[in-house]
Amino acid sequence: MRGSAPRYGGSVIFIFGTKGYVTVLGLVTFVCGNCGNPAAQRIEKWVTKFTLFFIPLFPVSTKYVVQCAMCGVQSRLEQDEAERLTAGPAGAARPSGFPAPGAVSGPEDKRPAG
Ligand SMILES: [Zn+2]
Repeated sequence: MRGSAPRYGGSVIFIFGTKGYVTVLGLVTFVCGNCGNPAAQRIEKWVTKFTLFFIPLFPVSTKYVVQCAMCGVQSRLEQDEAERLTAGPAGAARPSGFPAPGAVSGPEDKRPAG
């Protein structure tokens, strides 16, 4: 007869899954490709996170979408596209003050005609 002390840990239950998060990155206004109206487009970041015991641990997928406020259509965006759209107006943060090249004038070696 074997010893039969009660032991724990015979089975471990893991509760895992995924959970989706939506973050609104910003609003931009441009002509919608679907309805053709210059409407506000909401740029959202959709993150799906792996959860263990209902605790989100790490993202498993990230995608960016833009949603038209006029017609409500959603379309996918690339990450750099979303970042570029939410970074502000194009060229606003462009550094200025660089001298324009091309205006170099040097001594010209012209022989006197004659
Ligand atoms: Zn639209």
